[in-house]
Amino acid sequence: MGYQTLYRKYRPQTFAEVVGQQHVATILRNSVQQGRISHAYLFSGPRGTGKTSVARIFAKALNCPSAKDGEPCGTCEICKSIATGNAPDIIEIDAASNRGIDDIRDLREKVHYAPARFNYKVYIIDEAHMITPQGFNALLKTLEEPPAHAIFILCTTEPHKLPLTILSRLLKLEFHRLPLEPLAAHAQKIAQQEKTELTRAAALELAKLAEGSVRDTISLLEQAMAFTVERIDEPQIDELFHLASPEQIVDLAVAVLRSRKDEIAHIAEELILSGRDPERMLLELASALEKYLLNRAQLRAALEARDLPYCDVTDDQLVAAVSECWEASSHLRREANPSLLFRITLYRIAHVLARAQQAALGRPEESAKAVAPAKPAAKPPVPEAPRATSTSESTPAKVVKKEDAESRGRSPSPPASELVPEQPAAAQAFSEAREAAATPSPPTEAPPLFSAEGKPQEAPAAGNEQQIPQEKGASSDADIPASRSKESGELPQEDAQTDPRWEALLDSIRSESITTFCLLFEGPEPEVKKQHLVLRFPDRLRFFSQLLRQASNLRVLDHFVKTHYGPEWVVDIVNEAPGREAEEAERAARDVLDLFPGSREIELGQ
Ligand SMILES: [Zn+2]
Repeated sequence: MGYQTLYRKYRPQTFAEVVGQQHVATILRNSVQQGRISHAYLFSGPRGTGKTSVARIFAKALNCPSAKDGEPCGTCEICKSIATGNAPDIIEIDAASNRGIDDIRDLREKVHYAPARFNYKVYIIDEAHMITPQGFNALLKTLEEPPAHAIFILCTTEPHKLPLTILSRLLKLEFHRLPLEPLAAHAQKIAQQEKTELTRAAALELAKLAEGSVRDTISLLEQAMAFTVERIDEPQIDELFHLASPEQIVDLAVAVLRSRKDEIAHIAEELILSGRDPERMLLELASALEKYLLNRAQLRAALEARDLPYCDVTDDQLVAAVSECWEASSHLRREANPSLLFRITLYRIAHVLARAQQAALGRPEESAKAVAPAKPAAKPPVPEAPRATSTSESTPAKVVKKEDAESRGRSPSPPASELVPEQPAAAQAFSEAREAAATPSPPTEAPPLFSAEGKPQEAPAAGNEQQIPQEKGASSDADIPASRSKESGELPQEDAQTDPRWEALLDSIRSESITTFCLLFEGPEPEVKKQHLVLRFPDRLRFFSQLLRQASNLRVLDHFVKTHYGPEWVVDIVNEAPGREAEEAERAARDVLDLFPGSREIELGQ
């Protein structure tokens, strides 16, 4: 026999050998044993979960003269001929192929011929959802009055595409994706038989990649074995399939949850440069955050292992962060610049988490400067509430000490969940954070995560930009609403914010470019002014405004402004003058700009 793929070589030959799907195997074995055979079956489930393999085993069990307790012997001539695909009475049809269409058309005629050698003629129709309407008609007529010797097994990944008239005549059996453990164990067993050592961690990585499919697990193992034969460990799998290591993902999760933009930037840069796939990384990150959601002890362990204080996040915040990862990952494949979207997503989650925690505390984030003795705090300190959750074990004092030592601008307060009841829904937590982000900041506010380059622009840049004439430090963010309402043109400020055109614009941009959408979602307040859509970015979001000015984003924005507002309309992207934290903001901006060489060029070109 020539070369066989591992999947074919290790295809199960008996019900007992089937990996997972024991519910299906048991039903079929019992039905053979008890002689209660239905004439038509539907095997539905994800690809690679063993539908056609089980169909063949069932065909064997129906025909094997030495079957015992419904299990085929696997050694008789009949079993062997079915295993090698040489049994004339087992008819496998691929409904997706041209040949398959003809086969189904012929089926009605040929089904009445008695089996050549076997008790049963078994029709295994793969990709059954691809059967043509004529094919379904032919099949329906046959299923209405099936010959006693004919058994039909329809296999499909998309059972909802089958006509109800057909579905109602089938006995339905569902195949499931396999959990990681049995998949990994199966991969290890095969590797062992192939005289290759596959570590457990490596096997789990393969199983994760295969997303519940036995076939994919085995073909991934085969690829790994082509790469290295004697011993396959986790780093090799990560290298081969461009995966971030679990450690790197935990590093990233911790940095995001602690809203550390410099750490996020560093890790993201490293991962992207080493060719890791952004989409998979976001999914891995989502899965790490989900683990923390279900088990805070894992988060605590991850932080302790990195010698970091415990950072408390609410369930809602974690749920929102997980959804954000999923949402962005689903857009990555269509994005021209997936690594940029990857990084923006990380910053956004970190930013929104920081904001949500602030909003939950019901007060602006206080910088170290704001609580310094020279400047009395604007509000009395929030009283410490009794411990509310079992997850909050680190003492507030410990948090303050460590945070002070290593961070700037983070609120030295007890974890949020100790003070505030959890918010009702993740979506609300996010929208509240969004509102908080859009609210003009009081002067004492610390430079937030995204504060950007602090210098006011010297002159209006070429293109769709303008600069509001404000001296550096002459106005704080708190003054802005009053002066702005005077400037406003066609619509007062309140109307502009709820302008349905703006909502429609955001919707359109969201479906066109999630990167552009991300830049607009958090930041600017739209104003309309004589066929100008003015997007005013607070200074802390200057970095977003710079990215928005990049040609690819500007093109999308301009296109939809013309669509939703009118062909004569133009966009003005405006940066508010920096507030009194300008120096610190500038420092923060330099950190961020270092991550994006592209935006540095834009900066110089202005
Ligand atoms: Zn047999």
